[in-house]
Formats: sequence, C-alpha cells, structure tokens
Amino acid sequence: MKQNGTLHKVMEDELSLPDQKHWFETLHVVTSGDTPIRKDAFDLSDEEKIKKITLYFAEIMSILGLDLNDDSLRDTPVRVAKMFVKETFNGLDPGNKPSVTLFDNKYSYNQMLVEKNISLYSTCEHHFVPIIGKAHIGYISSGKVIGLSKINRIVQYYSQRPQVQERLTMQIANELSSVLGTEDVAVVIDATHLCVASRGIKDISSSTVTAEYRGAFSETGRREEFLRYIN
Ligand code: ZN
Repeated sequence: MKQNGTLHKVMEDELSLPDQKHWFETLHVVTSGDTPIRKDAFDLSDEEKIKKITLYFAEIMSILGLDLNDDSLRDTPVRVAKMFVKETFNGLDPGNKPSVTLFDNKYSYNQMLVEKNISLYSTCEHHFVPIIGKAHIGYISSGKVIGLSKINRIVQYYSQRPQVQERLTMQIANELSSVLGTEDVAVVIDATHLCVASRGIKDISSSTVTAEYRGAFSETGRREEFLRYIN
C-alpha cells in the first residue's frame, strides 16, 4: 500500500468524486419500493468500482489512524472493495438477478407451498452493518411452479443491497408475484439488525418482523395456515 502522501496524490489523479451540485441533481428513477439507484450506476465496470472503493476505503482506514503498511491491514481495502461489489452489494446490478425456471404444475397441486427458514443476510442502509435473519415464503400456484432453490436465490438477490427490511420484504413479494404470475404470495422476514444489537441501544435480544400477504393470503384462514407452518 502506498504511503499516505502518495495515496492523496493518487486519489487526486485517478478519482473524481461527483461535485455536490451534480450529486444532488442526479435523479434516480424509482417508484416507491425500488432501491434508489443512480442513473449512472452502471457507467463504471465492476473492476473500476473495485479500484475506486479500494482507494477510498484505504483513505477511511488511514484517517482512522491505521497503518496500511502493516501486513495484516495491507490488503483490507481491496478485500473490502471486492466483497462490496461481488458479494455484499451484488444485488444492486440487475444483471445479477437470478433467472428463474418455471415448471408446469403437473400434479394440479393447488394448496399453498411454503418454504421456511431461508437464511437471510442483508445490510442496513443507514449504518452499513449486517441484518441477519430468516425469510419465510408462501405461494399458491397459478399453473406454474418454481424450482425451490430459486426462491432462496430471489431472497438472496434482493438482500445483497443496502436495505431497510420493509423494502426488502416488498421487493421479494413483487418479484415472486411477477415471476409466478399470481397475487397469492406471502413473505415474512424475521431479522436482527446489528445496528440495534451491536451499537446504539445494544439490544441483542430483539428482532424485527415484517410481513406481506397478498391475494389468497389476505384471507384470515389462509394466513393462519401459513403462520402455523412457519412457527
Ligand atoms: Zn441501521
């Protein structure tokens, strides 16, 4: 890693932060429930993003007083940059949305299908710390069925963004509904936010539950049946 003076020089030469005016004038094109993504979000390649984030993260560590010449810290900036782009926030890129294979509902199974306890790892967009929990999904087939692991992949894709739990819940419900061609979907998320558990109020025992019930799941009987399965 370069010495600090050099780092500043490199940043001046190679990086240009959007100036404030441009920053605020850049409108993101969203409807409520969409992740606010800038219009120019994909002007940079993943490799260019990794390069820039590496330099900025090194700067943050350096400002915190860390010596980036230390063996153990030297590669942390590039490690974090790769993790952000390729894993933690991989779901910001629509190109990474899982392609979904549907099958005919040959068995005429017309009851609800529930996939529960899907592991969920996301990131709180207010503090950039993990949200860890479980998602429970239910749907009633409108004639097509989905490969089960694709449900996990849809949960994972939307989780790999900076999130608030309410939006994450809606995005998963919207995607399932659109892919399966039915309004009959249910999504429940029960998650711990490390911004609550590890800092601030430091409450390690609370969790946050969000739920979206659509179509047939709006009926009390169906909803109670779904809740019996996941509890
Ligand atoms: Zn938070």
